[in-house]
Order: sequence, then C-alpha cells, then structure tokens
Amino acid sequence: MKGVLRGKILLCSFFRSHNYCMAIAVELIDQMGTDLTVVNAARVSYAGHKDTFDDRDEKLIAYLAKHNHWSPFGHASMQFRIKAPVFVARQLVKHQVGLIWNEVSRRYVDYEPEFYHPTAWRGKPRDSKQGSEGEVAVDQGYYERLMNSMSTYYALLLNSGVAPEMARMVLPQSMMTEWYWSGSLHAFARVCNLRCAEDTQQETREVADLIDSAAKNAFPVCWKYLRT
Ligand SMILES: Cc1cc2nc3c(=O)[nH]c(=O)nc-3n(C[C@H](O)[C@H](O)[C@H](O)COP(=O)(O)OP(=O)(O)OC[C@H]3O[C@@H](n4cnc5c(N)ncnc54)[C@H](O)[C@@H]3O)c2cc1C
Repeated sequence: MKGVLRGKILLCSFFRSHNYCMAIAVELIDQMGTDLTVVNAARVSYAGHKDTFDDRDEKLIAYLAKHNHWSPFGHASMQFRIKAPVFVARQLVKHQVGLIWNEVSRRYVDYEPEFYHPTAWRGKPRDSKQGSEGEVAVDQGYYERLMNSMSTYYALLLNSGVAPEMARMVLPQSMMTEWYWSGSLHAFARVCNLRCAEDTQQETREVADLIDSAAKNAFPVCWKYLRT
C-alpha cells in the first residue's frame, strides 16, 4: 500500500471507508517498472541491457520523449484507485488509449451515496472556453438540503423494493464514485498534459495533479521529459 494522496497530504487507511472521505482522493495502488525499465525496453533494439541508471540513460529518455518514440514508455505502468464526483469521472473516462477503467456499479451496490461539497461556487466566465472565473455567493445550505433530499428519496425507493439500477436515477452528478485506473506511463502523461492544464475544470485538474505527483515520484526521469 503506497498511501492515499489527498490534496497535498498523504493518507493511508481511510480510503476504503464509504462514509469517511468526501474529498477527491487518488491512491497509487501499484506500479510496474522504473525509469530503467523504459531505458532497457529502448536498448533492446541493440540487444543492450543495464542494471543501473546513469546520465546517458537520462539523455536517452529525453531523446525518446522529444521524438515521440512512445513505445518504450508503454512498458512501465501504474494502477490507481480514485475517488471523485461523477462529473469528474465522466470527463476522465474519455481518455481511452493505453488505459483500463473499472468503476463501482450502482446496479450492484446500494450503500448510502456521498456527495461532493464545493467550498466555493465559481462564476460563469466571460470567455466560455475557460469554464469558470471568480466566485459567486450562493445558498450552500440549499445545496446541502437538496443532497440530503436526494439521499432520502434514494433510500425510500430502495426500501420500497425498487432495484438499485433504477433507484440510482435520482442520484446527481455530484455523487462520489470510485474506480481503478491502470495504464502505461505514456498514457497517463497524455492525461496529465491535457488535464493539469489551466483550461481543465478545477475538480478534474485536482485528480490529474494528484496523478502527476504520484507519477513524478515513481518515474522521476521519464516524467520530467514526458510532461509538457
Ligand atoms: C479542456 C478539454 C475540454 C474537452 N471538452 C470536451 C467536450 O466538450 N466534449 C467531449 O465529448 N469531449 C471533450 N473533451 C475530451 C476530448 O475530446 C478527448 O476525448 C479527451 O481529451 C481524450 O483525449 P485523448 O487524446 O487522451 O484520447 P484517447 O482516446 O486516449 O486517445 C489517445 C490518442 O489516440 C489517438 N486516437 C484515439 N482514438 C482514435 C481514433 N478513433 N482515430 C484516430 N486516432 C485516435 C489520438 O491521437 C488520441 O490523442 C475535452 C477535453 C479537454 C482536455
């Protein structure tokens, strides 16, 4: 267990509790390979192999990344367990190539839903491509009451014998969901290059930033050159 990266804090054991964590969380479950894995995958072209990483290997990685020789970066991979609102998952699942996604299914589970609680409501921007700007004052209590009502109605439907696959229709996009996301180093670099950017929605960027931190720690040299 490598720990849960939540915000800038490393947490370890709370993640699996359904009722505890309502914040966005990214846990690096597993990784395959190191920077050296990528170097050896590239050097096999010349039947080469190394056991220790040196400056020449960094130069090779820089060259591979610069010239988009992506396949050596496909031999190193990471597996994450991520918790985030549905509207964030909906954006991230669009990244497909080199990535595998398995998500909790509300056809099969019917535990009490958790909802994302924004600390501020961003305003509508003048330039629609930016997504949001500034902050607006809204009645946060109304939001909390609405989420509670949805949760209550969901429980009522279940208690009436309605199947979870139908009862979930009343659950909103702010509901927290969880998924395993595995993929190659190259694929996650593409995700981060797109989703750590300024034009990405803040909540989605939060997930990407946490993936970015974990990858930087796990594959420091490759990540330095893959991230643009
Ligand atoms: C800021 C932002 C706003 C967005 N807004 C919207 C939106 O409004 N609506 C919406 O639907 N999506 C939107 N997207 C999602 C976007 O269109 C992509 O689906 C998403 O970014 C995944 O891109 P990817 O290059 O990682 O795709 P992947 O599916 O992971 O593909 C990786 C690469 O493989 C290649 N590839 C994949 N499939 C094919 C194919 N069939 N044919 C040829 N080449 C292929 C492409 O080079 C692609 O870059 C948005 C993304 C961002 C970052």
